[in-house]
Amino acid sequence: MLVSAKEMLTKAKAGHYAVGQFNINNLEWTKSILLTAQELQSPVILGVSEGAGKYMTGYKTVAAMVKAMIEELNITVPVALHLDHGSYEGAKKCIEAGFSSIMFDGSHYPIEENIAKTKELVETCNQLGLSLEAEVGAIGGEEDGVIGKGECADPQECKAIADLGVTMLAAGIGNIHGKYPDNWEGLSFETLDAIQKLTGDMPLVLHGGTGIPEDMIKKAISLGVAKINVNTECQLSFAAATRKYIEEGKDLQGKGFDPRKLLAPGAEAIKATVKEKMELFGSVGKA
Ligand SMILES: [Zn+2]
Repeated sequence: MLVSAKEMLTKAKAGHYAVGQFNINNLEWTKSILLTAQELQSPVILGVSEGAGKYMTGYKTVAAMVKAMIEELNITVPVALHLDHGSYEGAKKCIEAGFSSIMFDGSHYPIEENIAKTKELVETCNQLGLSLEAEVGAIGGEEDGVIGKGECADPQECKAIADLGVTMLAAGIGNIHGKYPDNWEGLSFETLDAIQKLTGDMPLVLHGGTGIPEDMIKKAISLGVAKINVNTECQLSFAAATRKYIEEGKDLQGKGFDPRKLLAPGAEAIKATVKEKMELFGSVGKA
């Protein structure tokens, strides 16, 4: 069932595990993630970036597909459909399209403007029963060319945003989107702990989950992270499985060119990655 992320994340924070946000790109992605969540009886968050939303022809298409798929596949575990790194305009469009959860990323604005815009969206989301994620301290990565070290958020600014009544908070703690470079300095647990102490029960969100060592993931969860975003890792496993299929010449055998066959190994690879993450995050059986 499609729900806001509030209840699943409150439970996760209290139970010391994390719910995975897995970004979707198309039907295969969505189906693989939903089936795995159902099989493992895990709550799940489907992330949609603005780029992926555009790719899938618009947020209305995405919301309609996800809602129909939940029904047709008999998915009974809690599923949140979440805008990832939304702009102010994107957030409004997704609210209208029927998303159950919104991230407004105002981290590139001066803190006063981030607070003002986040505050307005808190009111709208509260009225409609949607969960809202805010971000403080930009999370680096390939998108904006930051390499080597992710930014660390100011814990006082985190508190100011958390106090507005957002559902969950993403804060930079040295994490990066995409593949981590060899010279990465690791997560700043000092920053995370300081943020946790000031934000209390607020579920914290860890972006850039691909390639963070398992022990760091577990430590982050122990310090209040209740939502972990995974995007690149599913893309890498999908690409590797598809490459293998083609390199083995399977598309040239019989009807191996049929898209339902051609995309099957990639879809299975996404399932395996999602399963691995749900086990690591501790969300299995928590639906
Ligand atoms: Zn992110």
